[in-house]
Amino acid sequence: MVLKGKNVLVTGASSGIGKAIALLFGKEGANIIGTYHHGGEEAEEVMKEIATHGVKAVAIGIDVSEEEEVARLFARAVDEFGDLDILVNNAGINGPTVTIENIQTSDWDKVIKTNLYGPFFCCREFLRLKRRNNSFKGSRIINVSSIHEVVNVPEHAHYNASKAALRNFTRSLALEVAATGMTVNNIAPGMILTPINKEVIEDKEKMKKVEATIPMHRGGTPEEVANVALFLASEASSYVTGSTYTVDGALSILGP
Ligand code: NAD
Repeated sequence: MVLKGKNVLVTGASSGIGKAIALLFGKEGANIIGTYHHGGEEAEEVMKEIATHGVKAVAIGIDVSEEEEVARLFARAVDEFGDLDILVNNAGINGPTVTIENIQTSDWDKVIKTNLYGPFFCCREFLRLKRRNNSFKGSRIINVSSIHEVVNVPEHAHYNASKAALRNFTRSLALEVAATGMTVNNIAPGMILTPINKEVIEDKEKMKKVEATIPMHRGGTPEEVANVALFLASEASSYVTGSTYTVDGALSILGP
């Protein structure tokens, strides 16, 4: 078991990629705190399944874009586990398809606050916890951005900007903590078969067109992203920091 005894916080663990990461890390021996925003029942189900591996698994409902809620989340994590070894910033949303001149400020705020402020708030709390416990060495931060951090999808300027900034933030943080033994990396998924893409997945014609643009001719599974997260969480990646791992069937080489 690659993560035996590690304490892990995964944001957005009720669904899709975060759920696959929480399930895999739990199977590999980690205790899990999995957050959700919507889908409390699904999150509880995921935690029940994780607990069958004899590890602790706790679901907590929060909005990562709210500073006070993130502070409360970390206070609860400390109550439950004492310390955390690994933080996975996965929670994220897409915004509406809209040209820049028509973006509502409220939509811009929601996407940026969830996809950028959320990971920032969680990273800051994680760093403060590591500082208090003097436990930086061997700890891990894994951010889930998107290939749209570099390959811009039309009429999604809010999402593109949030993910590009998250990539840059990952690199700044990796640099800042490199000497402590903590690593900070980024996963950039392409088209993954999760509820965030429900509209495309459920429309056979649209899905066919999307698959034709992907050099591997299929969408990826959340488990294929989780496998990369496991590598980044494990000792095997001890000299990898500030990196982005694309998991996209070569989509970003061509662009969407
Ligand atoms: P999903 O919709 O299945 O899951 C999103 C998760 O985030 C859910 O658990 C949800 O409750 C949580 N969440 C949403 N808003 C939140 C908030 N304000 N506070 C706390 N939690 C919140 O989506 P997914 O496809 O699994 O996406 C996970 C991450 O992967 C996102 O950051 C997304 O941008 C990124 N991503 C997904 C794809 C893809 O094709 N699925 C591609 C690139 C990047």
